[in-house]
Amino acid sequence: MEEKTGIDRELMLDANAAAGLLYEIFGTEMTASPTECAHCGQEGEIGALLAFTQGPGIVLRCSGCENVVIRIVQTPDAIYLDARGAVYLRLAR
Ligand SMILES: [Zn+2]
Repeated sequence: MEEKTGIDRELMLDANAAAGLLYEIFGTEMTASPTECAHCGQEGEIGALLAFTQGPGIVLRCSGCENVVIRIVQTPDAIYLDARGAVYLRLAR
């Protein structure tokens, strides 16, 4: 069966692998937080996104359209967060 975007699902991480890093960035548990894909409008929990390692970072893709929702790259002194693929991220108070 052909993948829509040709991505290799064998490179997928357990969503929990990204959860620890998201907790470090936001200081709160994010896996149950809702988000919306900017590409196809699918809404769901961050923990339901498809997590991949690509190069030096972690990539979270939409489970509906497989476009990139969130990218996280860590360097020795900083964390870069690219969330342009998300309409919003919700952080509970
Ligand atoms: Zn999508």
